[in-house]
Amino acid sequence: MNYDIVIKNGLLIDGSGALGKKADIGIVGDVIMAIGDLQGADAERILDANGMVVCPGFIDVHVHSELALLGGPDKYAPLKMGVTTQLASPDGFSWAPLQRNLLKEMKDYLNVFYDDECIDISKDLTLERFLSLFKGNIPSNIVLQVPHASVRLAAMGWKDSWATDDEIKVMEKITREWMEMGAKAFATGLEYEPMRRSDLRELVALSKVVSEYGGIYVAHQRGYGNNVHLGCKETFSIGRLAEIPVHISHLAIDPLAAEQVDYGVKQGVDITFEMYPYPAGCTHLLLYLPEDAQVGSPEDVKERLKDRAFREKISVQVEKAFNPIKNVRFASVRTPQPMGWEGKSLDTVQEELGLNLTDTVCDIILMSGFRALAIYHWEDKLHPYLEATYKHPLHMVGTDGIYIGNRPHPRGYGSYPKILGEYVRDNKWLTLEQAIYKMSGFPAKRFNIKSRGILMEGNYADIVVFDPSEIEGTATFEQPRSEPKGIHHVMVNGHFVISDGIVKDGNYGRIL
Ligand SMILES: [Zn+2]
Repeated sequence: MNYDIVIKNGLLIDGSGALGKKADIGIVGDVIMAIGDLQGADAERILDANGMVVCPGFIDVHVHSELALLGGPDKYAPLKMGVTTQLASPDGFSWAPLQRNLLKEMKDYLNVFYDDECIDISKDLTLERFLSLFKGNIPSNIVLQVPHASVRLAAMGWKDSWATDDEIKVMEKITREWMEMGAKAFATGLEYEPMRRSDLRELVALSKVVSEYGGIYVAHQRGYGNNVHLGCKETFSIGRLAEIPVHISHLAIDPLAAEQVDYGVKQGVDITFEMYPYPAGCTHLLLYLPEDAQVGSPEDVKERLKDRAFREKISVQVEKAFNPIKNVRFASVRTPQPMGWEGKSLDTVQEELGLNLTDTVCDIILMSGFRALAIYHWEDKLHPYLEATYKHPLHMVGTDGIYIGNRPHPRGYGSYPKILGEYVRDNKWLTLEQAIYKMSGFPAKRFNIKSRGILMEGNYADIVVFDPSEIEGTATFEQPRSEPKGIHHVMVNGHFVISDGIVKDGNYGRIL
């Protein structure tokens, strides 16, 4: 047999959780044709992977990367970590299908998370046109999810109310359009506008449509930390009422969360969750204002935040939300004139401005046109929960990477190599096989991503070759774009996009 590529002598860890074994892989086109002893086989390229691990490309189930893949400084950041497939529309965010006026507002709302020049607001954005942005233009694969934000916005704008029967019908129709396009899940972000205005009835109705297609419900739920029981209660209700598997986004397993997940499992709900490997969150500054500050269109919010009386009314809640204030650091603040705030803590910036906290926060949100993104470091006592999270059998890996600003969260640049180096090799929390399963086979199974996530004959050749003794996620909060060590080769659909550690330009990714 003649192969295009043979990867030989590596330790093959297939992504299923099974023990690694010495084996060669023969690839023809975009498909794995043979696994076994291929000594003497003919191939255009033979790669000696002696001393290396050969495993499936990683699948990032929660990452804000779809527009970054189209171009710019972070186009290859996920691939450098070994990620060959990522799920789109995390937290329910997306831009389609929307009419021009709503599209502009959605773009304004999401601009804090995305470098979104490719979103053209001069015309309506249909689902087809949105997907055409990606065809032939991405270096790794994307998997669609139904984005609750644009589905709801299209049906009822930024209205602060539960949906009527008619509005739900419109949302069901759009949800169906996404599912027909191949979406694998319904993704929502119930602490973000306008999704926060939805009730159980709406969420169950849309989940039922998704369930018809074999999809799952994926939630940035309404409550984490001290409120995790509230978030989980709603998530599990949706699981039961819509008879759909549920997946909780970025859930850290502290004792309260562990108890909730156990309880849900005992109730018969089919649960999984994902979490990145750093003790710090990242989101826009606005999210930490009280809920009634965030209601409505970006224009409504702007007017409200200018209002003195409103600022006074929320000031006690603001003090509470940003406590301890020194733990909040700016990842990206895009003001018309650069202010040099990225990397600085909120209390330092407050001192510079000489304002009280509420005025500081509201002014920064207004000055930046909502484009203020911050990292929220956990208190030290919470750090040990990462170990419990990574050892939990229902946990899989996702980065929640956000590719914007000068001091982004390192999770978008170092997560996978950090886990394989620090959690597997150094801390021994997991075996290599367990960790790789959480990165490939498990997410593929959960999100019904066919013929990927496991190295087996007949599957697509999305492959990572790394050195287990060398692998390290070097990205830090100070140097977030520092590149990982130890990832030697990454292949997408049978093409090397990283070869000997060097990026080879090529848009071999597909919409799956
Ligand atoms: Zn989220």
